[in-house]
Amino acid sequence: MSHNHSFIPFTRPSFNQETIDAVSEVLRSGWVTSGPKVAEFEATLSKYFANRPVRCFANGTATMKIALQVAGIGDGDEVITTPISWVATSNVILSIGAKPVFVDIDPVTRNIDLNQVSAAITSKTRAIMPVYLAGLSVNMDQLYALAKQHHLRVIEDAAQAFGSQWKGKKIGSFGDLVSFSFQANKNLTTVEGGCLVLNNADEAKLAEKLRLQGLTRQGMDGMDVDVLGGKDNLTDVNAAIGLEQLKQLPSYQARRAALAHQYFEAILAELKSARLQDLKLELPVANFTGNNWHMFQVVLPLEQLNTDRAQIMTELKDLGIGTGVHYPAITGFTLYKNQGYKTSDTPIAERIGRSILTLPLFAAMADEDIGRIASGLVGILLKYRKN
Ligand SMILES: *Cc1c(COP(=O)(O)O)cnc(C)c1O
Repeated sequence: MSHNHSFIPFTRPSFNQETIDAVSEVLRSGWVTSGPKVAEFEATLSKYFANRPVRCFANGTATMKIALQVAGIGDGDEVITTPISWVATSNVILSIGAKPVFVDIDPVTRNIDLNQVSAAITSKTRAIMPVYLAGLSVNMDQLYALAKQHHLRVIEDAAQAFGSQWKGKKIGSFGDLVSFSFQANKNLTTVEGGCLVLNNADEAKLAEKLRLQGLTRQGMDGMDVDVLGGKDNLTDVNAAIGLEQLKQLPSYQARRAALAHQYFEAILAELKSARLQDLKLELPVANFTGNNWHMFQVVLPLEQLNTDRAQIMTELKDLGIGTGVHYPAITGFTLYKNQGYKTSDTPIAERIGRSILTLPLFAAMADEDIGRIASGLVGILLKYRKN
């Protein structure tokens, strides 16, 4: 099968030989769970994030849950967040007994609309949990001004934003609690894993306890448990992968940005040659200084088409092109509907959740893949265009 006709998944991680060797070394060392590699990974991440304390966890979900606990959020508290995210974001809020309050999104950035946050604040609101969809941050100046004005904590769900920047500063290098995921689809992966950037040593100490049964040790044989913790530690096998991925991140990053750039050109050229310039296909914000290009997502103009997203995905799949949906509005899930949430309360999120489509984007993609995807997509749009 020629490269041109091989299946392009929507994402795929890259692991070089050095990474495979680093894993082998850990496996042979006799120490495979949390140990020296996790400590080294945390120290390296701390340097990366302007020397702020960093602790690693088994996954991004555990990282966010512990972030909420470190912030002292719990029973009856309200946390303001976005309905367009991986469901982990609001599930962790529920899991600690707090209540997610969903604010609609900005249709251009597809992130929480910060202009609507104030109206959602009540006497129970304790925190804002923004999500940086596809790696694009919110307006960080506005976010922290809001938090300061209303005395709220910020738990940034930066799961998709490793390597993204705001005004030249890395996401995570400033702010309150910043949570990242190293799940296999993310820009930097440890297969599964996550890290939290914290404000001080006390918070880091509490996070350490919460990730391992609430345990502290004293001397040779002393042990105490004074808080209920879980089993959320990262292993040295995962940390060894992360240390190698960090070295490769700049090249991955440059490749993602170059591919994203090609997407804009190829899609616009295809629309023009198909005389479809009036089609309201929504492209991402063309932010090449701040975005890590975790995903390249389009919003389909379903009202102008005689088809639905599932059919478009099926036809792209038949062309050898994998796509994804990130994400339907969380408020439409049964668990949330049963608690009284309605997608119609956030109409922009409802529409975008129904029409957003993730196109393939990962460092190992070939240049010619972009042209093939753009022409495949526009060909389908042309076929189903309403007259
Ligand atoms: C991946 C992701 C998470 C959860 O991370 P896991 O490592 O899969 O637990 C949370 N929020 C967002 C926005 C994500 O993309």
